[in-house]
Amino acid sequence: MKHEDKKMDTIIAYAKRKGFVFPSSEIYDGFAGAYDYGPHGVELANAIKRHWWRDVVNTKHNVYGLDAAIVMNPKVWVASGHVGGFSDPLADCRTCQNRIRVDKELGKLGVEADEKMSEEEINTLFDKHRAEITCSSCGSKDFTAARAINLLVKSNVGDFSNDNSNPVYLRGETCQGIYVNFKNVVDSLHPKIPFGIAQIGKAFRNEISPRQFLFRTREFEQMEMQFFTKPGDDDQAYQDWKQDRWDSWKSIGISENNMRWNQHDNLVFYAADAWDIEYKFPDYGFDEVEGLHMRTNYDLTQHSEHSGQDLSFNDNGDKFIPHVVETSIGVGRMFLAVLSEAYDEEQLEGDDSRVVLRFNPDIAPVQVAVLPLMKKDGLSEAAKEIFKDLAATFRTTYDESGSVGKRYRRQDEIGTPFCITYDYESKDDGMVTVRDRDSMEQERIAISDLTEYLQKQIK
Ligand SMILES: [Zn+2]
Repeated sequence: MKHEDKKMDTIIAYAKRKGFVFPSSEIYDGFAGAYDYGPHGVELANAIKRHWWRDVVNTKHNVYGLDAAIVMNPKVWVASGHVGGFSDPLADCRTCQNRIRVDKELGKLGVEADEKMSEEEINTLFDKHRAEITCSSCGSKDFTAARAINLLVKSNVGDFSNDNSNPVYLRGETCQGIYVNFKNVVDSLHPKIPFGIAQIGKAFRNEISPRQFLFRTREFEQMEMQFFTKPGDDDQAYQDWKQDRWDSWKSIGISENNMRWNQHDNLVFYAADAWDIEYKFPDYGFDEVEGLHMRTNYDLTQHSEHSGQDLSFNDNGDKFIPHVVETSIGVGRMFLAVLSEAYDEEQLEGDDSRVVLRFNPDIAPVQVAVLPLMKKDGLSEAAKEIFKDLAATFRTTYDESGSVGKRYRRQDEIGTPFCITYDYESKDDGMVTVRDRDSMEQERIAISDLTEYLQKQIK
């Protein structure tokens, strides 16, 4: 099917029906802004994270991994600017108490506004355009003034006051864990500059209106890498990483037709440049899936000043605060892009049709399905042996229920690229049928060659 004909509602319903994504705590009517990955979803999410880690960490000689705790000293979030300035401008409808994001409403009118503006600036614009902004739930135009509502999520971990007066925060982004460990990595590994530190982990934001399924949630997972360079070397590093990340999206299976670059018009005051990779989601249209930012020496300078620790880098006597090139992705957004890209309804010969998820075999939740033609005559025992062999190397499943045709279709529906059928001939010739998900073509392969054959196909 054409990408343009895909519908997000169909994909969301499909993701639940086939065990990819469930609403959080659904038996209690759910919980806004949180989702659970089901059995196939967790395999896909893990594969996406492995793909990223391989591209950003394992295949680079100068990028190191990190896994920092979610909770940190609250001073981290003062230094980073999140306690003071990490907020959305919200106003309440006086008639029905519905909350709106004033910058987004202004944006719909073509008025440039964002969450980085001061309350005063945004209210001046808001007042100018009040006549044009209506409450989406009751139609009223009577709103309170816009107020900045902080997005950090508070926790009482380690706070034994009764009124939560010494809150810590669930991290609002993973990269602060990287900045505060900069010195530890330098002191323990003595890297040469430039080098990067990467992390995958959960982050939390009190979004007023979590929406668009996995696209904007309150609990989410980030994949972030900060690349530290000499001042002046960050420009080249930025160009290189932009190319590298673009290629990585292609290699995970996203068509270039559905990707584009978008440069930020409004930069935060310390940033030198910022581009997003955007993906063309069904219905939602182009939206951000990865941000690449030139952050200058802002973050390390902030943490130097607030902690009193010297976070400069000593390059053979040449001392400086490194500049940072950052890349940042939400796992949920990449998951949704990959799922949207893979989803296909295919018309077959006659009146037949099938739903097939055309995942890159490298990230498919199940890579190989082993199917005995029949349960009887020793076929299932032999097929189980093959399953055991392959499962050591690939994400493999075993299925013996229903006709082979139905079993093929079930595997298509979750995107399994290869089905292996053990039949009566296999007993005599030591070969099995390998059926390809996309072409539906079948070929006979010797059982002894299976692992090597599949390894070549699944790169
Ligand atoms: Zn209202």
